[in-house]
Amino acid sequence: MTELAPVLTQADANLDSSLEKLFDLCRIKSISTDPAFKADCRTAAEWLVSYLQSLGFEASVRDTPGHPMVVAHHAAGSEGAPHVLFYGHYDVQPVDPLNLWERDPFDPAIIERDGQRVIAGRGTSDDKGQLLTFVEACRAYKETHGALPVRVTILFEGEEESGSPSLKPFLEANAAELKADFALICDTSMWDAETPAISAGLRGLVGEEITIKAADRDLHSGYFGGAAANPIHILSDILAGLHDETGRVTLESFYDGVEETPSQIKASWETLGMSTEKFLGAIGLSVPSGEKGRSVLELTWARPTAEVNGIWGGYTGEGFKTVIAAEASAKVSFRLVGKQDPDRIRASFRAYVQSKLPADCRVEFHQHGGSPAIQLPYDSALLNRAKSALSDEWPKPAVMIGMGGSIPIAGDFQKMLGMEALLVGFALADDRIHSPNEKYNLTSFHKGIRSWIRIMAALAD
Ligand SMILES: [Zn+2]
Repeated sequence: MTELAPVLTQADANLDSSLEKLFDLCRIKSISTDPAFKADCRTAAEWLVSYLQSLGFEASVRDTPGHPMVVAHHAAGSEGAPHVLFYGHYDVQPVDPLNLWERDPFDPAIIERDGQRVIAGRGTSDDKGQLLTFVEACRAYKETHGALPVRVTILFEGEEESGSPSLKPFLEANAAELKADFALICDTSMWDAETPAISAGLRGLVGEEITIKAADRDLHSGYFGGAAANPIHILSDILAGLHDETGRVTLESFYDGVEETPSQIKASWETLGMSTEKFLGAIGLSVPSGEKGRSVLELTWARPTAEVNGIWGGYTGEGFKTVIAAEASAKVSFRLVGKQDPDRIRASFRAYVQSKLPADCRVEFHQHGGSPAIQLPYDSALLNRAKSALSDEWPKPAVMIGMGGSIPIAGDFQKMLGMEALLVGFALADDRIHSPNEKYNLTSFHKGIRSWIRIMAALAD
């Protein structure tokens, strides 16, 4: 068994040179979406490979039809230690508008901002600073004990900010090499500067587009109005019927696979200080929509939704036209939680629409993708070990949170490699990722490194 304290001390002693490494990486303009920076993306991949090799990893640049992947392997110090796959991305978002930056986005430096010491520059938070927290944790282990407590495979992607087109084919083609006991993903945020967070639940999504058709042409509303079916009325009626008066979704079997959040998890969310006033006040609202009697965090993290995202039909231009449209359309999406099945939700929605369709009317459906939610069991050993490791490092205990949206890579790891993914990140809400003046707090970087040291030790136990 390797001792933890000297590794943490080593990471502290390394901090200045760890920062130099981060600055080096952040100077590389690896903007994946802009072909002008194609060579820079490769440079970043090569930089990572040679740095990982210097730490004793067997690392290589792996070509894809787009920007290359970085894959690296390192054995564990002892037999039988678990095997982790660590994921991060080395590409960054474009920097324009450049005139809004306080300093050159590719000349990273430590500056004072709002009374905090922060590392300023594109990619410092998303995701170069974050991925280096893990690499520097490995480095501290190597320098202290000459070994890692767990077997490590690293996958760094260079297309995360441009839709990850090469990722799925790469996972498929290299599944045997990348498969580990579980995945660690460092591309998310803390709850606040003192409270680390593990994202245990990510909502899934089903997208549907529907078009209701009635008469075989647009009609004069004076001549036909009152006698002819109006698709806009019919569509409105159907959409209005998606929720009952308590805010629940009315579709048959919609809540199959939805579990109540354990009361101790809900209680821990209560301690986060997120009130309805704070959450909704920030967007000019005051009363929660959706299911009654649930907190805003529960509504956005742990409950499914039905939302109309777009609706159109008839005449919407300048002036006025007394028309009864021949058709009306809407885009509808469902956020899923727990074990809700995207295919069954879609089928249930379509059956509902069909059942509400009056005589002479038709409906067309177009599907816009679907993915299930990801929910790690709250009693999972992986989650709970990481939780106590993080709680040892930060001023406040770690909290298991949900995420309203989805992180596709977590689903891909689960689906394609059969691995649970632990999402831990040290970014903060005010890091301005994707925007001018991106930063990463010095504490995020330093304590992030220390956090991975503790998590690796906890996983090895
Ligand atoms: Zn990212």
